[in-house]
Amino acid sequence: MTQVKHCQIAIIGAGVAGCIAALALSRHFQVVLIDKQPACPDKVGECLPPAAARILRNLNLLKDFEQRQDLHLPHYSMQSRWGSEQNLINDNLSNPDGLGWQLNRAGFENWLREQVIAHDVDTLWPARLLDAQPGSDGWLLYLAAQTQAAQQSIAIPCHFVIDATGRHSAFATKLGLKRTVLDKQIALWASLDCGIKNQLACIEASEQGWWYSARLPAQRRVLALQTDSDLLNKGLQHDLPQFCSLARTQPGLKTLLPQGIEHSGTMQLHGVVSANSTCLTQAAGHRWAALGDAACSFDPLSSQGMFNAMATAMQLANSLGEYGLCDADAAIEVTRLHQAQIKSVWQHYLSHRAHYYAQERRWPDSPYWQRRQAHKNAEFS
Ligand SMILES: Cc1cc2nc3c(=O)[nH]c(=O)nc-3n(C[C@H](O)[C@H](O)[C@H](O)COP(=O)(O)OP(=O)(O)OC[C@H]3O[C@@H](n4cnc5c(N)ncnc54)[C@H](O)[C@@H]3O)c2cc1C
Repeated sequence: MTQVKHCQIAIIGAGVAGCIAALALSRHFQVVLIDKQPACPDKVGECLPPAAARILRNLNLLKDFEQRQDLHLPHYSMQSRWGSEQNLINDNLSNPDGLGWQLNRAGFENWLREQVIAHDVDTLWPARLLDAQPGSDGWLLYLAAQTQAAQQSIAIPCHFVIDATGRHSAFATKLGLKRTVLDKQIALWASLDCGIKNQLACIEASEQGWWYSARLPAQRRVLALQTDSDLLNKGLQHDLPQFCSLARTQPGLKTLLPQGIEHSGTMQLHGVVSANSTCLTQAAGHRWAALGDAACSFDPLSSQGMFNAMATAMQLANSLGEYGLCDADAAIEVTRLHQAQIKSVWQHYLSHRAHYYAQERRWPDSPYWQRRQAHKNAEFS
């Protein structure tokens, strides 16, 4: 039997974008937050920029977050070998918003989910979106939810849908929308125990792509190689010793990887995730909008994905709060503002991306770098 759950706004996806949107929108509306995962699993992507403090403060979360020492380390600075062998250090010491953080990413997202529950937002997980049908004043969502031992169908009539499902953009895809895909970049990532005191995060360009590493809470470290899916050495994603050997050819990484760590049982190779630049051809429509990676996904080089997810969630919540959900013209205006906002974010991102990749010219024969030099900006249709 199908259970019916009423709400004003349904948010699909309880990552950073969905949780921040749920917290901000619950000030004005009855919200349900849905995710296919019962909790956030291990996840890569840990540098939260200093400006995120403003959003956490606005939502009255900053104090609680800062007290959770298990969730973060200060992000003092980034050292990079990019464009030359010179090691450059870019620090956050003079940033008026503070240092920023290196997160236990899954811990942070699960903490955000706890905040959503503490704010009395209705939550539904694990539940997967099956279908979406337009209604006269909104949408009817159909979900498959796992409750105790049984699978249950749930129907959610709502006035507005937020697609915060990350790069899958599950709701927009159901509407038949496509993503503009600029490249084939993936990240192969590992985490390891690290007693080495080096606090800095680092980025190093290499012939086949680029690496980064950052310290994490609980004496852990993340290490990731970014390259294109068709350029990844065959079998590397299953071969920890080979991954470590390749990392040790990088001058700044070999000191971070203690000898024999690959055989110690304290280093895990988690596998490959998408790390390419993509955007929805349309980021909002009749009574729906996409947020965070669902609207546009950035190259990890930018370290801005989480902040973009948070900022676009706050902006959408503000305009929905201002215009409300009842009036059809108001809904059109919310959609127009959101589309314009995402378009502007994407255009800024593209020019930054082109600027950074243009600085690295040491491997003119490498397909990875040739493709980046030839980048053209993608247009919204
Ligand atoms: C290698 C790498 C390194 C990165 N490093 C950084 C960094 O240092 N700093 C930074 O700010 N950003 C970084 N990013 C980017 C950052 O991780 C993303 O921008 C961020 O996760 C976007 O958040 P989101 O909430 O939009 O999407 P996601 O984090 O993708 O969350 C989407 C949620 O939707 C749920 N979902 C998906 N499909 C469905 C469905 N059909 N039904 C229900 N639920 C669904 C998922 O379970 C998930 O919980 C990095 C990314 C990569 C790949």
